[in-house]
Amino acid sequence: MDTINLTVNGISLSGHEGETILQTAQRAGIEIPTLCNDESVEHYGGCGLCVVELEGTAKLLRACSTLVSDGMVVHTDSPRIRQSRKIALELLMSDHEGDCRGPCTLKCPAGTDCMGYVQAIGRGDCREAVRIIKDTLPMPATIGRICPHPCEEACRRRLVEEPISIARLKSYAADVVLRSPDPWKPTVSPPSGKTVGIIGGGPAGLSAAYYLALKGHKVTIADAMPQMGGMLRYGIPGYRLPKQVLDREISDIAELGVEFINNYRIGKDETFAGFRARYDAVIIAIGAWTGTRIDCAGQELRGVFGGIDFLREVNLGHRPDIGERVAVVGGGNTAMDACRTAIRLGAEDVRVIYRRTRSEMPAQDEEINEAAEEGVKFEFLSAPEEIIGRNGAVSSLRIRKMELGEPDAGGRRAPRPIPGATEELDVDSVILALGQTTNVSGFEDIVLSRKGTIAADEHTFSTNIEGVFAIGDATNGGADIAVAACGEGHRAAGVIDAWLRGIDLPYRKPYVSEREVTAKMYSDKEVIPRASMAKRDPGERRHDFRQIELGLTTEQAEREGRRCLNCGCHDYEQCRLIRYANTMRIEPERIKGDKHPGYTERKLEAIERDQGKCILCGLCMRVCEEVAGEGILGLVGRGFSTVIKPEFNDPRAIAVCRDCLKCVKACPTGALRAL
Ligand code: SF4
Ligand code: SF4
Ligand code: SF4
Repeated sequence: MDTINLTVNGISLSGHEGETILQTAQRAGIEIPTLCNDESVEHYGGCGLCVVELEGTAKLLRACSTLVSDGMVVHTDSPRIRQSRKIALELLMSDHEGDCRGPCTLKCPAGTDCMGYVQAIGRGDCREAVRIIKDTLPMPATIGRICPHPCEEACRRRLVEEPISIARLKSYAADVVLRSPDPWKPTVSPPSGKTVGIIGGGPAGLSAAYYLALKGHKVTIADAMPQMGGMLRYGIPGYRLPKQVLDREISDIAELGVEFINNYRIGKDETFAGFRARYDAVIIAIGAWTGTRIDCAGQELRGVFGGIDFLREVNLGHRPDIGERVAVVGGGNTAMDACRTAIRLGAEDVRVIYRRTRSEMPAQDEEINEAAEEGVKFEFLSAPEEIIGRNGAVSSLRIRKMELGEPDAGGRRAPRPIPGATEELDVDSVILALGQTTNVSGFEDIVLSRKGTIAADEHTFSTNIEGVFAIGDATNGGADIAVAACGEGHRAAGVIDAWLRGIDLPYRKPYVSEREVTAKMYSDKEVIPRASMAKRDPGERRHDFRQIELGLTTEQAEREGRRCLNCGCHDYEQCRLIRYANTMRIEPERIKGDKHPGYTERKLEAIERDQGKCILCGLCMRVCEEVAGEGILGLVGRGFSTVIKPEFNDPRAIAVCRDCLKCVKACPTGALRAL
């Protein structure tokens, strides 16, 4: 065979007579993207991704159909090539209807593969479920108990009857594995020789520590409190999250070699500059521990507590003197934790003061219902006006009655006072649970956001100081739910690991394809009610801090896992279409048009074909014809209505396909699935 000498990207290569540029480049390990090419079949040139520049030729050429020739000078990457490929891919994507990931995963702030672990539990494989969860979330037993589960808001099972109990399945699987004699352990990379110091051992800091330790870095967490856990330990009551569950998951992180330093405060024990100097990289994850003040007289009186301060004191084992009549101001989950804690401390009359109505309360419904069951009363459309004292201590709370105004542009109705309508409640204490801010004293050189939080780049997590990163509640938008802090810890660990290795790799939210669905599409699904978890009786549980949820049984959990509708694409990890879409940073919304509807058919019985995901690359058809030697698949229809499918239900074809499945393997997207 004659050898042909050519240059690709400045590298001298040898090609063979009759070989294409794509083949020669691939042999040399130079990647040229393609969706429709496969070594086993004749080239097709359909996807348009493999375009290259040839010196001396004005037009871009397709590498899959241009034969090499002596002296050729080829370039496979340039702004013009990238632009052309991007447009080709955007056109393909503009007619692509599919869900890369389940909506549960897209809604989870940590991006947990909910579909994967829910289905693993459905198969009775909790170990695999924990392995999947721990890819993105290191503390499933903890987070599964306390997460307000935004994933369940998005769960498609809602369109049939009720969402899957995703969060509680997570803690179920984690509990099973933690109890097993041989719990699942992650693989740790060899030591990198790099050190990372993390200030703050809450959900963000612990998550970052876990993933950085897995990468082989030597991680130390320094925290101001006596034990690690941050708000998970000092902000969440034990009846929702038993301390021994948290302890166990934190000890798993320590087992990776992460060192813990407690009772350590920047500015008191050491300067920030001193801490910074000891590590290759530093992460600030100090959380938001300062209660927000409100415009209300009397806040200096004895018996007035900040919601977070109150919960921290109780979680430290103290018993703040709250008396018998307690007003809790606020409508979020901290307010619910505070009022239910007050009940457990023996208060007789606990009232939640909230300025809007029940339907606007940001707290989870479940928390509100459980508080009401335990005897908490609610004063809606009420706002504190003045805390009144006697001998320096709280004696009553004057509240203003409110009404809701007209909806604003966002549809939210602002509360406004009803003139002259006030009421005085006799109370012994007032707990102000109105939100949290961060205290940055000791971090004077760090640039803050306009909100007073630490300004951190949303892609690199870097602050204004080289090698100093910041994550979690202390940064940018401020306090959020714990799973969001864990998610940020995980993403930051990826970026910081790369940075420590000298690579600039900012985090970018992956582009995914999403499908519009309606309840009608699920009308054939059997109605299976959501698993209902047993809880301790309110009359009993209101007297102690023992966990109130009794957990799912094995039968309940496995049945619940099997309710999953399998919304995400089975091919997400292998799909070349989505891999290229992300590397080329496509913007398919620039090219909007009609889409082939995402219906599935199973004419070949062993193969499911999703028309919405098919990009008409023709690879399946050519593999069927040229490799399998069958010619079962063909192009049907014209123009936009063209589809690839078997033309008729041929029993012989059905039998052949069952043993072949070559088209399924060749398909570059998730359009074909072996059943
Ligand atoms: S085929 Fe690829 S791009 Fe399409 S839904 Fe599946 S993973 Fe996403
Ligand atoms: S049905 Fe399953 S895959 Fe679909 S959103 Fe719910 S948990 Fe996720
Ligand atoms: S089904 Fe066939 S034509 Fe459609 S994307 Fe897959 S291989 Fe290409």
